[in-house]
Amino acid sequence: MDIKNSELFKNQCYINGSWVNADDGSTSNIVNPANSKQLGTVPNCGSNEALKAIKAAKEAYKVWSKTDAKQRSSVLKNLHRLMLEHQEDLARIITHEGGKPLSESMGEIAYAASFFEWFSEEAKRVYGDVIPGHQQDRRTLVIKQPIGVVGCITPWNFPSAMLARKIAPAIAVGCTVVAKPAPETPYSATAMAYLSELAGIPKGVFNVVTGDAEKIGSVMTTHKEVKKITFTGSTAVGKQLLKQSADTVKKVSLELGGHAPFIVFEDANLEDAVDGALIAKYRNSGQTCVCANRIYVQSSIYDDFSKRFTEKASQLVVGDGLAESTQQGPLISEDAMKKASAHVEDAKNKGATIATGGNPHSLGGLFFEPTVLTGVSDEMLIAQEETFGPVAPIFSFDSEKEVLERANNTPYGLAAYFYTSDLGKSWRVSEQLDYGMVGLNTGIISTEMAPFGGIKESGIGREGSKYGVDDYLEMKYISLAGIEE
Ligand code: NAP
Repeated sequence: MDIKNSELFKNQCYINGSWVNADDGSTSNIVNPANSKQLGTVPNCGSNEALKAIKAAKEAYKVWSKTDAKQRSSVLKNLHRLMLEHQEDLARIITHEGGKPLSESMGEIAYAASFFEWFSEEAKRVYGDVIPGHQQDRRTLVIKQPIGVVGCITPWNFPSAMLARKIAPAIAVGCTVVAKPAPETPYSATAMAYLSELAGIPKGVFNVVTGDAEKIGSVMTTHKEVKKITFTGSTAVGKQLLKQSADTVKKVSLELGGHAPFIVFEDANLEDAVDGALIAKYRNSGQTCVCANRIYVQSSIYDDFSKRFTEKASQLVVGDGLAESTQQGPLISEDAMKKASAHVEDAKNKGATIATGGNPHSLGGLFFEPTVLTGVSDEMLIAQEETFGPVAPIFSFDSEKEVLERANNTPYGLAAYFYTSDLGKSWRVSEQLDYGMVGLNTGIISTEMAPFGGIKESGIGREGSKYGVDDYLEMKYISLAGIEE
């Protein structure tokens, strides 16, 4: 891999501060989705290695949970600095293994690093409470303590940021972590582990185990020493992990699939709405959980919006993410290509018009054309499920009430967007959208300073912001008696 510091590229797992292979020596090949070339291998671990990592995390927890907040804060600050010092190399790793354009990967590393900075600060603000006594000689104290060993499972679409969003708050409050990265993108996780060591995070506090998801996941979700599971990925897998965690009553955080509506009212600034929709749809080739999946445009401006949006979408430059001009990289897999094609085919068969794109790209491989569909209706597959590809369906609506009903008519509730210049409507619609996050006159909502997360079948819990530590803490109430002389 073409990076300046070759130490960042690890072909091994990181358990208890050591770089290790799978017990049986087996490995999996990792390929670049832009050209199918092999980048390297990683250990194909299973239950045994997961157990070793949990044991290491449990031992490390005994010490790490007792460290003072300033010490935890300081190593996280170091990690923030190191991520930015190595930003370009880390970004190149993401682009090699995940395919996204280098500029987007640079942005992802800045975003990932920001969680280490943010939670280095929050480490010092894990406040409790003193509550008036319910009897004269009593006082009630509330303290917050780290929950324990955390099992963490992450997806391929933001291999650095999704991991940082979990391990930063966990480590900040005194937890220790066993992480299993997605099989497509393990090198961002192992690079983070390498930097964590340089930052001064002690052995066993952060472990990375690559390999068999079901075996590792099953150990994590059933082991009594793992007190919490934090998962980002599909709703189907999230539900399965929630069930598996039930027998040991673990605290579970889930960041799951989305099906974001993007609503453009007739009083919106049209140019802003077009640009916002473009970024919300085509970022990471449409493979983000907060992607605009259903674009609803009020009928009076439907043709105008569709024309402008299609023009800009058709100009997006598709190519290898390492090329400077690239604005849209490859998709992650053949399955992703099939899903995008299936959504286009279904919509076409049910009467939609392909305004641009609609096919695998002439570059071949895993490249798909930026696609716009008009005349789309609610019966089409694309109206009902997450596409996770660069296909933008544009629906028409007449009234506020109608569009709210249609936007909310989904089991998902992650992100929603709308554009309007009406103050009352801004407030009204924000309140009535059944989503965990709302972008009002913007197509970009992610920041470490705000609570990221969904409702309904899009998840449980929040990541980032002052609320981001709550999922890694237990609350304890102490009833203090004997105050009276
Ligand atoms: P996925 O198939 O659910 O996989 C996510 C992770 O879970 C991978 O590491 C995967 O490993 C692992 N996994 C799968 N089955 C497992 C099992 N039985 N036990 C333990 N681990 C298991 O999702 P994906 O395709 O990678 O990611 C795309 C999905 O993530 C989309 O639905 C997207 O919306 C969602 N997402 C949500 C957020 C959010 O913040 N809400 C952010 C990003 C992505 P294997 O691949 O080896 O099975």
